[in-house]
Amino acid sequence: MNEYDSNRIYDIANKINYRKTENLKDADCYVLNTCHIREKATEKVYHDVGRVKKEFRNKKKPIVIVTGCVAQAEGEILLNKEKYIDAVIGPQSYHQINKTILNIEKNTKKINLTDFNVNDKFDTLNVFRNTNSNISTFLTIQEGCDKFCKFCVVPYTRGKEYSRPVDELLNESKNLVENGAKEITLLGQNVNAYNFKGKKLSDLISEISKIKELKRIRYTTSHPTDFSKDLIEIHGRLSKLMPFIHLPVQSGSNKILQSMNRKHTVKNYLKLISKLKKINPLIKFSSDFIIGYPGETKMTLELIKKVQFINTYSFIYSARPGTPAAKMNEVNYKISKERLILFQQTAEKIKYNYKKSLINKKSEVLFENKIKNSNEFFGRDEFSNPVITKSDYNLKGKLEEVKIVSCNQNTLFGEIEKNIKKKEHAA
Ligand code: SF4
Repeated sequence: MNEYDSNRIYDIANKINYRKTENLKDADCYVLNTCHIREKATEKVYHDVGRVKKEFRNKKKPIVIVTGCVAQAEGEILLNKEKYIDAVIGPQSYHQINKTILNIEKNTKKINLTDFNVNDKFDTLNVFRNTNSNISTFLTIQEGCDKFCKFCVVPYTRGKEYSRPVDELLNESKNLVENGAKEITLLGQNVNAYNFKGKKLSDLISEISKIKELKRIRYTTSHPTDFSKDLIEIHGRLSKLMPFIHLPVQSGSNKILQSMNRKHTVKNYLKLISKLKKINPLIKFSSDFIIGYPGETKMTLELIKKVQFINTYSFIYSARPGTPAAKMNEVNYKISKERLILFQQTAEKIKYNYKKSLINKKSEVLFENKIKNSNEFFGRDEFSNPVITKSDYNLKGKLEEVKIVSCNQNTLFGEIEKNIKKKEHAA
């Protein structure tokens, strides 16, 4: 979502003649868009601002603005502690970036914009055309979360659940497709809770899928309890909807899930997976896991072995200030680290075996980019697996059938099927 937000911040600032630069030393204004999910997010802000300070030591100071969830959660602290920062803007206020920049240019005092003006934000964003021209692009459809998992800052930094109007999203999707997008990933902190005046995520996906030139639709991130019947069903009938779902479970233990306030059990989760597989046997899953959550006495690997996730994101629990879990007793770090290593070894083995199973099989790959200084192109298959293929002609934006010939832990390597046929024919 920060990638989407960063692009939109740029679209707005562009109107007051700020342009992107590749070089830090050329910047008049430095916007650091932050994420609070990962550990040590605040320290990273001080570190990055330190880099800017060093670069501009003997030069005119650039405008320095911190946006995103760290600004929301710790804005006042940042402004007080690091005088080099001119403004902090929360994720629901970044539509005010131009006003902020112009005020700083006029030397006003430090600015703290951390209101939850989510309606205002999207009203303003609609005025600015989305200029993103990636083949595979993001579209924020929903923000905020009402779930209040005990470890998570999102309900405090992004606010209550909010769904954008269908018309607005259709217009922005058409606009992205006109810019060249072939694949759109619909984004939300709790994307499958999308509900605009009774229109659900499945309705929105159906509408967007009518855009002819759009080839693929994905959505992330879902909560297991918000997987409604209609959303499950659409996976069985809409070929543009990719058969790959990121479905965070967070723990394989019911005791921990309850303590996290996740509102689902391992049994519910597995039931949902089997319903989705029944409707579309091709569907694969990825998930998030927190290892060493307070109260965890042992770790179970049963769930990952059962589901055979093709990708997992796992981290040792680390407390976020202000969350209920931050008051709980933490598991010894060394023990958590050992559990994480074991978890990741198992998960990586599953992932590698899965990748190997694709060798000599065909995949449909949407190519996104040419790799610099080579004749190789990067794309993704239906399951979001990265695929690299050599080609003498431009594959960017093309959807091609690829035969997978080898792999490593993360990437598949393939040949374009029609080139193989040509070679066979010539021989
Ligand atoms: S559902 Fe996701 S975003 Fe919402 S509180 Fe839980 S972890 Fe955070």
